[in-house]
Amino acid sequence: MQTFAELKNRYVIDCTLTPEAAVHVGSGEASNIADSAALRQAGGALIPGSSMRGALRSLLERVVVSLGVPGKVKPCVLFAAPEALAGLNLPGVECLANDKDFPKLRAEEQERKLAGKEDVLCDLCQLFGSTVMAGRLKTLDATPATAEDVKSVFVVRHGVGINRDTHTAQEHIKYDFEVAEKGPDYKFPLEIENATARDFALLYILLMEMRQGFAVGGKKNQGLGRVRMTGYTVGYFDPESMVEPYSLREFLVARGALKPVANGEDFETQLAAYFEQVCPAKGA
Ligand SMILES: [Zn+2]
Repeated sequence: MQTFAELKNRYVIDCTLTPEAAVHVGSGEASNIADSAALRQAGGALIPGSSMRGALRSLLERVVVSLGVPGKVKPCVLFAAPEALAGLNLPGVECLANDKDFPKLRAEEQERKLAGKEDVLCDLCQLFGSTVMAGRLKTLDATPATAEDVKSVFVVRHGVGINRDTHTAQEHIKYDFEVAEKGPDYKFPLEIENATARDFALLYILLMEMRQGFAVGGKKNQGLGRVRMTGYTVGYFDPESMVEPYSLREFLVARGALKPVANGEDFETQLAAYFEQVCPAKGA
C-alpha cells in the first residue's frame, strides 16, 4: 500500500473548463427567489470539489468497465446501475471499500488488512479515495476564471414537482431552481501526490474524457452542467519524471515552486506511455 509517510511526487494540473450549458449546483437551501438557490462564492458560481470528484469518478468508471482495465481487484462502480454491470462478469476480488464487514472491524484489524497491501482497494478507490483510505487525487473547487468585477449571471428556471412514488410529474407543484448561466470559463485545479503508473494511466483516460466533455451538478438529465476541458497547464516535482526529473530537494530549494511542464504534449506522451503499460493492446 502506498502510504502517506513518503512524498514521491506531486503534480498540479490547472484545467480550464468551458461551459456548454448552464450549471445547477444547489446550495441545499431555499432563497426568497428559488426553492433551490445556487451555490455561490463572492458573487460567482462555484462547483465544489466534491461535485467535481463525483463527476470525474463516474466518467472514469464507465471507461474502466468498458475497457476492462486489468487489475486484481474489481473496480467499484458506484455510479453505474447494477443491471448495466450484470452481463460484464468483472474479474477479480471485491474492493475492500465495498466490504460491508470492514467498517465493523476493530482498528487494529483494519490496519492489519491494509498493511503492506496495494491491491485490497480497487484503482478507482486508491485514486479518488474511499471511506477506507484517502485518495491520491484531490479535486478542488471550480470557480469562474474571470476578473473580479465580472460576475456570474444567475437565473431562476421553473421545473415541475416530481411525485416521489410514481416518478411522474405532479400537477400544481411548481419547483424553481437557480442556475449559473453559460458564461465564463471555470478554472479547476487537480492535484495528485505519490502517483503510481496505474494512476498516471487513469489520469490519461480522465484527461481524454474531460476533453470530450462531461456534466457536473444537478439536473444533468435536463441537459444542464455540460462542460468541456479546453486546456490545462501542469506544474510538478517528480525525480522519476520521463520528461525532466525535478526532485523534492530542488522543489524546496526553489521555495516551493513547482516546475512547469514546458510542453503539454510531452506530459501527455508520458501519460500515454503509462497507459500502454497498464492497458496493453490484446495480443501484445
Ligand atoms: Zn473500490
